[in-house]
Amino acid sequence: MMRYAPIAAGVGAGSVIYLAWRGVDVLPILFFAGIIAVLAYYGNNKLGGKTSFAVMGGEGERQPAIVFDDIGGQEVAKNELREALEFIRDLDGIRRLGIRPLKGILLAGPPGTGKTLLAKAAARFTDSAFVGASGSEFVEMYVGVGAQRVRQLFKQARGLARKQGKASAIVFIDEIEVLGGKRGQNSGHLEYDQTLNELLVQMDGLATDDEVRVLLIAATNRADMLDPALLRPGRFDRQVQVDLPDKTGRLQILGLHTRNKPLAADVDLGAVAADTFGFSGAHLESLVNEAAIAALREGGQEVTARHLKGAIDKVILGEKLDRLPGADEKRRIAVHEAGHAIAGELRRPGSVASVNVAARGKALGYVRQTQADDLYLHTADQLKDKIVVALAGAVAEDIVLGGRSTGAGSDFQQAAALARQLVLGGMSDLGIVSADDLPQGTLHMAVASLLQGLEAETHALLAARRDTLDRVVAVLLENEGLSGDEFRALLSVPVQ
Ligand code: ATP
Repeated sequence: MMRYAPIAAGVGAGSVIYLAWRGVDVLPILFFAGIIAVLAYYGNNKLGGKTSFAVMGGEGERQPAIVFDDIGGQEVAKNELREALEFIRDLDGIRRLGIRPLKGILLAGPPGTGKTLLAKAAARFTDSAFVGASGSEFVEMYVGVGAQRVRQLFKQARGLARKQGKASAIVFIDEIEVLGGKRGQNSGHLEYDQTLNELLVQMDGLATDDEVRVLLIAATNRADMLDPALLRPGRFDRQVQVDLPDKTGRLQILGLHTRNKPLAADVDLGAVAADTFGFSGAHLESLVNEAAIAALREGGQEVTARHLKGAIDKVILGEKLDRLPGADEKRRIAVHEAGHAIAGELRRPGSVASVNVAARGKALGYVRQTQADDLYLHTADQLKDKIVVALAGAVAEDIVLGGRSTGAGSDFQQAAALARQLVLGGMSDLGIVSADDLPQGTLHMAVASLLQGLEAETHALLAARRDTLDRVVAVLLENEGLSGDEFRALLSVPVQ
């Protein structure tokens, strides 16, 4: 539309001069023309005219400085991505065999797993210019503005590639689900649909013989929310799953982020990796950073194992709370956590990594158990062990304090979810079942009876070790925290 603006302005100006020459009063016309010009300027520059998106790696830099080796623990994703990119680099082969160009790669996975890093490394690998934006930058109240921004993004990528003398450009859109969600869901609001349509148009227009070849890499943690039109072949042809790192991956990532930090001799990164099941790359980066901050605060020269341990707890549970619980509350918390810890140690010897009753952001106290290994499948016994550990907090409160508190709510939820998993996995007395065909109430009954049985088991387990329970509670109240080894030293009853 803006292409015709100079022509319209010229014709308008000519007409006004002609009318003035014929003696017509042109002042009102000039007045309205002025208002329209101001509105057009405002519309273009303030609403639609977000003139540039982030050129990650810096406009002046030729490419983002990230390479695939800077990304830890994503071997499968890196290989899949590299394979797709190899194919882009072989332009002659593509042309010779008449292959349709790869237009889009979708990186799907939880937050903080390195999707942005992968896109940047892809730019370096293919020697492409790199322009990045987030899906939310395209969401506007005004119809048409998002679509205009999509056009600008592709235009900017081409322009940057030309400026940097590159034959290809990578456009990276993070949180693509914000602009690429299923169409027709935003009732009464055509803006989202128009923006997505424009993205589809831009993708369809990408060709191998363009002066600058553009590849779109998008990231999402909600691939299920994307419009099917985006996922059909010819758009995002490749989907690369970027999962949370496993133990080896976590070790690699920790290695990468401690490269520039002096580590004390007692630091065992393997142990830290084992203790951080479920952490993303971003969590691990933050963990190492927190440990270094703690070392600096203490005036130390090196990051020690203790700093890293403290940082794990901090990343999991947030900062320490300002308001500390009162004496009664604290005793209840200590009893509750002692119950979890004793049951955890009995069911899986050596598994308790720390017991803590110092209140932090999300929890008043907690027991951290190490994972033997990252498990994807569980047997019935493993699930039952987990349920016993989850119930043990409330059961210990029952035994020592003669009643429970609201603190066990999330434990029960977790226990019930595990019990459900066990029943639906065909490992309960009901045998093999299908969730859809179970008569109403049967699942509930099966879960309830399983939980009741395990609650009685937990009660017997802890009641027989009342002395140990009291001893652990006393030390916890004194110290606020115990390491796994300190805790084990308190268990005079030999662990079976
Ligand atoms: P989001 O979905 O929230 O945008 P993302 O998957 O794009 O997250 P990144 O922005 O790539 O995550 O990662 C954030 C930070 O976490 C990185 O700057 C890096 O420090 C660290 N990080 C994440 N994953 C890895 C990894 N695999 N290797 C090394 N560092 C990582």
